[in-house]
Amino acid sequence: MKLVNLKDDSQQLSFAEALQIGLGRQQGLFFPAELTPLKDIPGLLAMNLIDRSAAILGHLLGDEISAQDLHDIVSRAFAFPAPLATVDDNTYCLELFHGPTLAFKDFGARFMAQCLAHFAGDRKITILTATSGDTGAAVAHAFHGLENVQVVILYPQGKISLLQEKLFTTLGGNIRTVAIEGDFDQCQALVKAAFDDQTLREDIHLNSANSINISRLLAQICYYFEAFVQLPDEARENVLISVPSGNFGNLTAGMLAKVLGLPVTGFIAATNSNDTVPRYLKDGVWDPQATVATLSNAMDVSQPNNWPRIEALIERGYLPASVLRGYAVDEDYTQVAMRQLAAKGYVSEPHAAVAYRALNALRDVQQAGIFLGTAHPAKFRESVENILGSPISLPIELAEVAGKEILSSVLPADFAKLKAYLYRELV
Ligand SMILES: *Cc1c(COP(=O)(O)O)cnc(C)c1O
Repeated sequence: MKLVNLKDDSQQLSFAEALQIGLGRQQGLFFPAELTPLKDIPGLLAMNLIDRSAAILGHLLGDEISAQDLHDIVSRAFAFPAPLATVDDNTYCLELFHGPTLAFKDFGARFMAQCLAHFAGDRKITILTATSGDTGAAVAHAFHGLENVQVVILYPQGKISLLQEKLFTTLGGNIRTVAIEGDFDQCQALVKAAFDDQTLREDIHLNSANSINISRLLAQICYYFEAFVQLPDEARENVLISVPSGNFGNLTAGMLAKVLGLPVTGFIAATNSNDTVPRYLKDGVWDPQATVATLSNAMDVSQPNNWPRIEALIERGYLPASVLRGYAVDEDYTQVAMRQLAAKGYVSEPHAAVAYRALNALRDVQQAGIFLGTAHPAKFRESVENILGSPISLPIELAEVAGKEILSSVLPADFAKLKAYLYRELV
């Protein structure tokens, strides 16, 4: 697979290279140099999740990973289902929260981890990343127990919920977690300083694992096919998919699935009040406002970092602009949507509710609608219980970690201290 830097055409890389460096020159995103549709869609739709996903990824990656190795990677990465729940007659939720950290980020993070381990072979590598919650947990679980990979995760001390903290700080083994006495921006600055320190980078073999890594998007393409497979035949004619969006990685993957031949009609870019994209799609002006805090906080992003990839899909003629519409949902309607879903017997959480509301606002009556369930309701227990007025139970994954001990070290937001820690632990 050949990838190009969207900011600098002259930088062309293999998948293995793009995987390992993450971002290109001038902070440019990597994008497939060419995309060709899959050949036998009906044949693919007849396969199970693992075989189909291995076939789709094999089509994209070419001969960079052998078919057998890729099948092994996919079996280890996608070790949990993505069921399509029926909400009513013609409305479905693709539940992407049955992985170890109960959020869709498990799919991308686990595939990325398996690929990095595959290409590292016998070399030792270190993954250093900062998290404000969700991604850290997905990354920690994805790499846990992988040979030759050491993981160090920085997070702001006292700024994430206790349950969220326990989800990634209790693993031990090759997963080290450091509570930084500072905020998330300071954690990110420390990671950046580490990558800028060439000697340190080489001494501990630093690799990037950030959310714009192309491997994550490729993995996420697969579950859009899985959604379609589970639709009843009569619903397959005209399908609209609503994607709750923050950095727009998930939506990019959906649109890539359509380029590859997924027979759906269109997509909705559903956002909360951080509505840069819906406004842009309406009036053509890119005008990010200050980010505001909402109930769907994983989507509190006003400068979405994957947007250039969606623009590229349209500018390069892979898809007409008309396949994508935007819709922003405010806090009141997010709550209304959660109550409407509960009245139909489906307990959901704020991110999925945003997508559900946007779907109902834009769909045609005849259209089958799928909205993505990006997180388990228990991950947002407090707001879900407040809004629905009834208690929800903790799934086994959360109940289990609740009793475990936090294994984190604590460091000040000081690069010299972090550097000393990294040498002590890893060299
Ligand atoms: C990360 C996240 C999103 C947003 O996904 P993007 O790919 O960044 O658009 C939506 N919902 C939940 C629960 C998330 O964790």
